[in-house]
Amino acid sequence: MKAIAVEPGAGEPTLIERPRPEPDDGEVLVRTLRVGVDGTDHEVIAGGHGEPPAGADRLVLGHEAVGVVEEPNGTDLAVGDVVVPTVRRPPNGTNAYFERGEPDMAPEGQYHERGIVGADGFMSKYFTSPADCLVSLPRELADLGFLIEPISISEKALEHAFASRSAFEWELESAMVLGNGSLGLLTLAMFEHVLAVDRSYCLGRRDRPDPTVDIIDDLGATYVDSRETPVDEVPDAYEGMDLIYEATGYAKHAFQTVEGLAPNGVGVLLGVPGSWEFEVDGGRIHEELVLHNKALLGTVNSHRGHFEAATETLAQLPEWFTDDLVTGVYDLASYERAFETGDEVIKTAVEFDTL
Ligand code: NAP
Ligand code: BGC
Ligand code: ZN
Repeated sequence: MKAIAVEPGAGEPTLIERPRPEPDDGEVLVRTLRVGVDGTDHEVIAGGHGEPPAGADRLVLGHEAVGVVEEPNGTDLAVGDVVVPTVRRPPNGTNAYFERGEPDMAPEGQYHERGIVGADGFMSKYFTSPADCLVSLPRELADLGFLIEPISISEKALEHAFASRSAFEWELESAMVLGNGSLGLLTLAMFEHVLAVDRSYCLGRRDRPDPTVDIIDDLGATYVDSRETPVDEVPDAYEGMDLIYEATGYAKHAFQTVEGLAPNGVGVLLGVPGSWEFEVDGGRIHEELVLHNKALLGTVNSHRGHFEAATETLAQLPEWFTDDLVTGVYDLASYERAFETGDEVIKTAVEFDTL
């Protein structure tokens, strides 16, 4: 069967041949429909994040998948069920994090991530997965099922952000996403269409006209250009934010976020930057956090419950938004196009098969 693999840091993804996998006990064979591409895939391709399975040079890419059950193999799933796989798997047998359904909280070394760290991903005609790592999706959402994994990332991030503000009367009236990539725009759409935030903002660094800025406008949010208004100047230029969601991977934003928040606000960091040394006023940041009861937290990955929540969320996003967000779905004959970048590219996917 065909698969898309990369030797991280040594070139572009290529099409390879792999034997069709056989499901073990408790596993299901899934026929792949579509697999999305995100900023993490580009970091994996560049060799900046993740690694192939032990002993292998190449990694099969893909962690944002949707497929259809081909062989249920005695599990509760049925042939034809549309499913989305979760990303993390235990490295050896299982461990406490996986046993309690919180693989997203496992520390490094206690998980593999399919298509990212230590385990092949879903960019192949078929893949196998334990049935309990597959979340069922209504058939009508199959075409957009590759958006479930990135939405689940924000379901978790927002759950943790809200939990950090749950000890007092906190009202979410203003919220800002840092970053107009696919994760940022999906989250902005959640602010508008699921959370119904009064005033939402999105930070980018592009000139108009630009397709991502058009989406920000059409969502009814305010576009903020970081070249004119750095995050720490947002309170003076606009207002302090009750919530800031960082999805740029730009390390200075982690610190500027503290000053961009309103009193009692929470900043949630998603980016995975490389090493970068720069100066910050640590005393000021420390004082801001303390005297204004602010919270700053990091979050990675998501668990099954977040995938289930993402299914509800996806159904609430307007069709025009997903139409504009998904700028290309490419079959295997032109899979390279799914990895192209540029201002006109927002979200892409590779299509392996149709329902
Ligand atoms: P992406 O497509 O690379 O999007 C990042 C966006 O941030 C780009 O649109 C970029 O603008 C913008 N940006 C970067 N620096 C900026 C600056 N200084 N000011 C304003 N805008 C800036 O990536 P993505 O797929 O949306 O993911 C976003 C980040 O989240 C990545 O770092 C990714 O690794 C991370 N991530 C984390 C998790 C997790 O579980 N924690 C999950 C998924 C993704 P331009 O395009 O104009 O350069
Ligand atoms: C994936 C997560 C993963 C994270 C770190 C993200 O792009 O969506 O599932 O945990 O990268 O590797
Ligand atoms: Zn991802």
